[in-house]
Amino acid sequence: MSLQLLSSRLKQTFGYNEFRPLQREIMEASLGGRDTVAILPTGAGKSLCYQLPALVREGLTVVVSPLIALMKDQVDQLEASGVAATFLNSTLDSNEARRRTDGLAAGEYQLLYVAPERLMLPDFLMRLRNWKIAALAVDEAHCISEWGHDFRPEYRRLREVRGVLPEIPVLALTATATGRVREDIIRQLELRDPAVFLASFNRPNLKYQVVGKSGAAAQVCNFVNARPDESGIVYCQSRKNTESMAATLRAQGFSAVAYHAGLDAEERANNQEAFLRDEAKIVCATVAFGMGINKPNVRYVIHADMPKNIEGYYQETGRAGRDGLPSDCLLLFSRGDVTKYLGFIDAIPDEHARAVAHEQLDQMAHFAESDTCRRVTLMGYFGESWPLENCGGCDHCLSPREKWDATTDVQKLLSCVLRIRQAGGFSVGMNHLSEVLTGGMSEKIVGWKHHLLTTHGIGKDQPRDHWVDLGRQLLRLGLLVGSRDKFSTISVTQQGIDTLKRRDTVMLTRSLNVAKS
Ligand code: ADP
Ligand code: ZN
Repeated sequence: MSLQLLSSRLKQTFGYNEFRPLQREIMEASLGGRDTVAILPTGAGKSLCYQLPALVREGLTVVVSPLIALMKDQVDQLEASGVAATFLNSTLDSNEARRRTDGLAAGEYQLLYVAPERLMLPDFLMRLRNWKIAALAVDEAHCISEWGHDFRPEYRRLREVRGVLPEIPVLALTATATGRVREDIIRQLELRDPAVFLASFNRPNLKYQVVGKSGAAAQVCNFVNARPDESGIVYCQSRKNTESMAATLRAQGFSAVAYHAGLDAEERANNQEAFLRDEAKIVCATVAFGMGINKPNVRYVIHADMPKNIEGYYQETGRAGRDGLPSDCLLLFSRGDVTKYLGFIDAIPDEHARAVAHEQLDQMAHFAESDTCRRVTLMGYFGESWPLENCGGCDHCLSPREKWDATTDVQKLLSCVLRIRQAGGFSVGMNHLSEVLTGGMSEKIVGWKHHLLTTHGIGKDQPRDHWVDLGRQLLRLGLLVGSRDKFSTISVTQQGIDTLKRRDTVMLTRSLNVAKS
């Protein structure tokens, strides 16, 4: 396949002058017949990687996509450019669906978008065999993995397509970059020696900031007040919160709408439209909002509640600054959110899924509480190494937090954990520990005779919160380790013991301050 042909179709059909990074390489690998995995951040131009090759291939390219709501738009756009494209999903009545499948059998189309639930229909796979299929593109391929942020069990059926059509190349596309998800995609789709293309996930124009949450609505209003004419998304965890947040903003004179899956279809569509057309500057939304939405001038994304994993955080913040202009990402963090989510997670029946959710939540909380450059943590999460120098675009790099000498306090805390453990029989939780340190005389403490320990009350000079906070920092630094059960009992690691023995100096960062604006 000549590159020239691709380039000329790029201009002719899509009106673009050049390829974006990795697009050409991905297309070449796939057109060369190789299974290919393309991992590019949102907005990088993944769709073109299967749309353009579909035009130069003999036969039909089948695109599996979970975004039913967007299929029609995509197909309309392609048709407007003269591409023979169509889609099949549950929005079509049976006559229309039959008309299209007849057309497919007659070889009238180059591109077919299909929803994964179609694959579940009994004779769909049989039909595929008669459609002269040249390639299979799996969009949002992370949906196949439990490690992604949007697991869809229907995606697991895709391996059956591979079974029916073993010879056609598969192109898997996603914006989810973790190694685990990548491996899962390759394994679940049974890709053979795939060519893997991984773009950098850094978004240089985004500024990341995390502040302690105290009165989210007021914090959001303050933030918005500083940029009243700009467009932004405020993510909230619950439907109710999106509505109350939007109401608060409106009361302050801002044009804000709510968006969540509980609104009726019309209101949801209206609110989305209003936001896309800049009639509403702010949308207060649950995570139901955003997938596939391409609004270039979103200047900020606020998380009024913490996302459940880093993946979600990255995707949601990634909706800011698609046009490449500087944009802000603000996360309001509270331990309360973590505790609340732990409650949800405990209710997940499947043990494996529970463990996954738990680990992801830990990583997210660590990101929020960490005292290193946000980019280092974010890029590290995606398996990308990032230099430990000033990134110029995160709260830590822009205004480094004050450091303090925590050596004595660390020694007090670690020895207290060791003493309690030596006393035996009792599992140490962070709350109990902080009570012992501050000289509490609770029933538990007296019952276990922990008021007789030499470390009882040695931290009286500081409030309990200080000790809980310090304990968390030590967990993050690996001087303590917590158990995974819901009692989250802690113990001192070897590293912690060494630190104690060697009397190492421990410098720590002050914990999160509440946002000024
Ligand atoms: P993704 O699926 O990776 O999030 P899209 O496929 O939706 O990204 O593409 C994002 C935007 O970039 C779209 O508006 C698309 O038309 C545009 N685009 C894609 N490839 C190119 C290119 N080579 N030159 C210019 N614009 C492009
Ligand atoms: Zn930084």
